[in-house]
Amino acid sequence: ATLPYDDNNIFARILRGDLPSKTVYEDEFALAFHDINPQAPLHILVIPKGPYVSWDDFSQRASEAEIACFVRAVGTVARDNGLVVPGYRLLANVGPHSGQEVPHLHVHLFAGQPLGPMLV
Ligand code: 5GP
Repeated sequence: ATLPYDDNNIFARILRGDLPSKTVYEDEFALAFHDINPQAPLHILVIPKGPYVSWDDFSQRASEAEIACFVRAVGTVARDNGLVVPGYRLLANVGPHSGQEVPHLHVHLFAGQPLGPMLV
């Protein structure tokens, strides 16, 4: 059902160090960096290091360790940036209807001002 993983997608290139990014967090299984076109005062992307196209792919194929570490990494990034009390929003696009542009799972973390109601 999911597309095969494209090793040349932009986040794969960031993971290989072929493209620069502003890293905010890294561990064995996850990397977080600033979005190049921020949609909020703080807009961070958190990605697993493994080759997963989307949340759907990741939730089927990733190991328990990868899943646990990824979920913890998202929480850690938010906590380390002092976002728990003011609050933040997480979002992951999956597939064409969502407008997913980069075919490597990424969770968007938006913060830095009141974010307003979700539009969809
Ligand atoms: P999607 O629409 O796939 O959920 O989100 C892709 C996100 O990746 C967009 O918010 C876009 O600004 C961001 N993005 C695209 N190319 C790059 C890049 O080369 N570097 C960084 N840091 N972010 C990128």
